[in-house]
Amino acid sequence: MKILIIPFLLIFPISCNQTKPDTAKLLAEGKWIDLTWDFEESTVYWPTNVAFKHDTVFYGINDKGYFYSSFKYSAEEHGGTHFDAPLHFAQGGRSIEQITPNELTGPAIVVDVSEQSAQNRDYLVCTDDFLLWEKKYGRIPEQSIVLLHTGYGKYWNDHEKYTGTLLSGAAGVAELHFPGLDPEAATWLVKERKIKAVGIDTPSIDFGQSKDFRTHRSLCGNNITAYENIANLGQVPATGSYLVAAPMKIKGGSGSPLRLLAWIPNI
Ligand SMILES: [Zn+2]
Repeated sequence: MKILIIPFLLIFPISCNQTKPDTAKLLAEGKWIDLTWDFEESTVYWPTNVAFKHDTVFYGINDKGYFYSSFKYSAEEHGGTHFDAPLHFAQGGRSIEQITPNELTGPAIVVDVSEQSAQNRDYLVCTDDFLLWEKKYGRIPEQSIVLLHTGYGKYWNDHEKYTGTLLSGAAGVAELHFPGLDPEAATWLVKERKIKAVGIDTPSIDFGQSKDFRTHRSLCGNNITAYENIANLGQVPATGSYLVAAPMKIKGGSGSPLRLLAWIPNI
């Protein structure tokens, strides 16, 4: 019997070069989409919240003769495109700085409920919506980031259409009408599909008329994070995207402004 021996040193450099991934090349074969709304004074905040503020500290030619600008901002945690940490609705839950990079990144799926949401401002995304999605695309992979596309992002510049009201304070809260995730479906996603995070293109993962925020309580109680007021969700396909969620690292924060990006392969 003839045994062919290939010296280890001969094959090692070749296999090493072949398996080394070219990340830049891979990323060039796709595009980045910004899923974040601008933060400005008109940005949507909860009716009981104070608006986003961005004031000038200095703008112009200073006394040394060169241009300089600097501003200061103030914001509630839960307005505009933002991130919810488990601490938001779970006593003792993790705050923003404790969320790991692995939890802030990963493959996403988009569940399109825009038709149902167009017919019913109080639509609750239910388990059947996910089962229907699975019939088309296969079982939701474990550790997916699940994004709910209600289509309400197109109303972003019309606060009344986006939230259901122009009122502020408690009167405004009573008039909120926008779709959200059914609490039982939230628990199902966590327990039966072991998802990583949930996002939605409305002001809250609980629907506007929720009085007990059971969806938030289920997600936060199960250590799951959420993104709200997502922009441009219609540009993200049902499968194949990769998300990067970069919230401001506020120590002890229950939420924060979020820069949310999706990478989509050219296919
Ligand atoms: Zn929030």
